[in-house]
Amino acid sequence: MHETSIVNSIINTLEQEFEPKKIDQMIGIYIKVGKLSNIEPRLLHNAFTANYPCGSKFHHVKLHIESTEIKIQCESCNHITQIENYNFRCEKCEEPSKNLIQGEEMLIHKVEFDD
Ligand SMILES: [Zn+2]
Repeated sequence: MHETSIVNSIINTLEQEFEPKKIDQMIGIYIKVGKLSNIEPRLLHNAFTANYPCGSKFHHVKLHIESTEIKIQCESCNHITQIENYNFRCEKCEEPSKNLIQGEEMLIHKVEFDD
């Protein structure tokens, strides 16, 4: 399952970044998922819960997923447009554009600790 490997890669990243002691104090992981990334936030939640059930290492950590909008920057006028309904067109000059600046990413935005 696609989402399980994403959960694993998130956890691997955090385990490389933080000491085990710090991970014990972790209470929240904030993730940004672009609407074009093919990641379904609900499935990611399910995969996380399935991987880390009660009693396991990350069970005390809450996963927060924010879905980010698709944005393009126009090559002609540099205007940034938020894309609705997959209409990849500048809202200012109406030039079609595929110059994505947001919407494909999956990133760890913030990690929260209980100090
Ligand atoms: Zn434009």
